[in-house]
Amino acid sequence: MKICNRCIYDETTPGITFDENGVCNYCKMHDQMEKEYPTGDAGWKKLEAFAEKIKKSGKGKKYDCVIGVSGGCDSSYLLHLAKKKLGLRPLAVHFDNTWNSKTAVENINIVLKKLDIDLWTYVMDNDEFNGLAKAMLLASVPEIDALTDIALTTTLYMAAEKFNVKYIMDGHSFRTEGITPIGWFYFDGKYIDSINKQFGTDKMKRFPNLWLGTWMKWLLMGIKRLRPLYYVNYDKEEIKEFLRKEYGWQWYGGHHLENRYCAFNHYLLNTKFDRDFRMVENSAFIRTGQISREKALEEIKKPQEYPAELISEIKKRLNISDEEYEKIIHLPTKSSDDYKTYRPMFRKLRPFFWLMYKLDRVPKSFYIKYCK
Ligand SMILES: [Zn+2]
Repeated sequence: MKICNRCIYDETTPGITFDENGVCNYCKMHDQMEKEYPTGDAGWKKLEAFAEKIKKSGKGKKYDCVIGVSGGCDSSYLLHLAKKKLGLRPLAVHFDNTWNSKTAVENINIVLKKLDIDLWTYVMDNDEFNGLAKAMLLASVPEIDALTDIALTTTLYMAAEKFNVKYIMDGHSFRTEGITPIGWFYFDGKYIDSINKQFGTDKMKRFPNLWLGTWMKWLLMGIKRLRPLYYVNYDKEEIKEFLRKEYGWQWYGGHHLENRYCAFNHYLLNTKFDRDFRMVENSAFIRTGQISREKALEEIKKPQEYPAELISEIKKRLNISDEEYEKIIHLPTKSSDDYKTYRPMFRKLRPFFWLMYKLDRVPKSFYIKYCK
């Protein structure tokens, strides 16, 4: 098995190529992004320049930006950075898919209270979310957690519009989260809608789907999206320790365990779709010098651990019998190619989205992945 000499992506990774030194194209992408998004003094200057613009746009308003929060490490740290370091006046925004762990809720509350930041939460209807979740399972696609991602994005725009704010920030960082292999995931509002029409039992009512028309309206309103953590050198273990000491934040005991549905998503990816997210994350840690390649190779050999009650909880909440669950798990796997999506539209609208990317209104990764 050929493995990259620098990270731990191997020859089975979709879209992988190796150069003459045995280094993969994903490591090259990382280096390219390192150049584009500097850290240290240069990164700090960029952040200060953004903060200047954000403050200007927020003059006379209650908030000058909205920040998506999950109770996890990245978004908690982003709140600290925005308020304490950059002097911004953020509104925290949360999409509650009704599957939060107790720790996540406590983390959100404790950090916001200490930073004196208001929270705006959009709580999903429990039955409706579970119905959509079941439809995604029956569609047999790997993007079951796209429901939460899409809904959080929409919720952020809704809050920005409601409070007349021009900047949305999220806690994504390619340095700690890595670069997902090409073709692993695709999702958009139409994808979710077409799956629900085919496999769901109810119409979407409360679910905040990201419809293209509404999204374009928000983009044309000039709402920008920023990822401040791209400009920060960021050791995950150190940050966890810092958050614990400074805020009483708690580690929820495993990656993505802050939300039960998200945890199940990772279980499913691992067991049904043969995708191990630890590869992605650990490769990112190697590229940024947070762990050694040897240690990462050791890490991913260990079996993944999930809470023992996770599967029974899923069956119970989604109202799936043991028999039906077995059937679902063994359905042939499908992908976004098997369902209707906005992809043809995104490609047609490529010049529009290029402009939106240049104006900081959509992330570069969206333009590259969805419009090209
Ligand atoms: Zn590599």
